[in-house]
Amino acid sequence: METTLASDNLENLRADEILDALLVAREGTRACLTCSFQAEDMIVLQLVRQRIPRIPVLFLETGYHFKDTYEYRDRMAKKWSLNLVNVVPQQTVEQQESEFGILYRSDPSRCCQLRKVEPLFEALEPYELWFTGLRREQSPTRKNLKKIEEHRLPSGKKLLKVSLLADWTWGQVWEYTSKNELSYLPQYDQGYLSIGCEPCTAIPNDPSNPRSGRWSGAKLECGIHTFSEKGQ
Ligand code: SF4
Repeated sequence: METTLASDNLENLRADEILDALLVAREGTRACLTCSFQAEDMIVLQLVRQRIPRIPVLFLETGYHFKDTYEYRDRMAKKWSLNLVNVVPQQTVEQQESEFGILYRSDPSRCCQLRKVEPLFEALEPYELWFTGLRREQSPTRKNLKKIEEHRLPSGKKLLKVSLLADWTWGQVWEYTSKNELSYLPQYDQGYLSIGCEPCTAIPNDPSNPRSGRWSGAKLECGIHTFSEKGQ
């Protein structure tokens, strides 16, 4: 792992500049992108796919997404010829509910662990570069996010987690989306600001904290961005 890439050297560069620098420095490196098809993810996906058209696009297929999300995912996968990888949990929704009941009500952390965290860390194993659409402004839990962080998976495998839009504001996201005529999830037009599984997503009461609409404000992270150990 080249530590220089995980340093502050690239922090002040634009998203496209960081991406280009990374791809030159890590030519041939296996890269993937996690994508929930939210506005930030579509910007990162747009930037990355121009350079790596067949990059695996990992979608955490929990089985609990909005119908609109599935329709948008499928429409964009076709339109952009994406290499879509649906990352599925060990159990179907029916199997899990039959064994444990409605975990998103009784124990949402366990539900996220089974349907998101465990499947994701297995799915990330083959890669050295992991692109995300995370931004510092999204949540207090993300305020210290760096654009490039070295992470260690539970298996010990290390990879670079790259958040090209870490310093972007919500305004910048929409300015880019509009300027580049990117389509977006229809739920935004209904007032949603952070969109995940349907049972755990609501229109936020506090617009200054978009993720306050997730899990009724009871928690802010599903765990996929906190399960791995940050190297620096
Ligand atoms: S966000 Fe909700 S439904 Fe989705 S995996 Fe987590 S607890 Fe389950």
